Amino acid sequence: MTEFPFRCFIGLGSNLEDPQAQVCRAFDELAELPQCRLVRRSSLYRSAPVGPQDQPDFINAVAELQTALEPEALLDQLQAIERAHQRVRKIHWGPRTLDLDLLLYADRTINTERLTVPHPFMYERGFVLWPLVEIAPQLSLPDGSTLAQRLDQCPMGTLERMPL
Ligand code: AMP
Repeated sequence: MTEFPFRCFIGLGSNLEDPQAQVCRAFDELAELPQCRLVRRSSLYRSAPVGPQDQPDFINAVAELQTALEPEALLDQLQAIERAHQRVRKIHWGPRTLDLDLLLYADRTINTERLTVPHPFMYERGFVLWPLVEIAPQLSLPDGSTLAQRLDQCPMGTLERMPL
């Protein structure tokens, strides 16, 4: 089997229309992407919403992929999956059927009109960092810091790892 060269991590989130099913389906869709191999999927985590509180809790998870797609081509694929989930998004940080974020792409730092990698909020968000450390505990980050150092700044709080 040809191994695809770039290791990357995708954040998944949903808080509408059966969020657990949305995230599980999205994992399966990531596994079907061209020039990609889904290496690991984290557990699902439940978290209180960021921003407006009058919306359902989120289900979040992280996927590890090996890919041969360049970052913007991968973003195109992620956005196509979001569209296929008929993503509803009326307010900033409001409810959505599926959100896919490109968290990390190899050890690259990317700042283009469409893409900021590492994802700008990932270091502040327990619902990203805790699933990430579950599947990649030894990961070092593009700025040379480790996940363990980042987790020190980001307690688990009300984040709840769901049973398998
Ligand atoms: P949101 O729906 O809040 O995740 O934002 C989607 C927008 O963020 C899209 O227009 C993307 O082009 C842009 N974007 C910038 N950096 C990233 C990233 N690392 N992952 C996903 N979307 C990103």
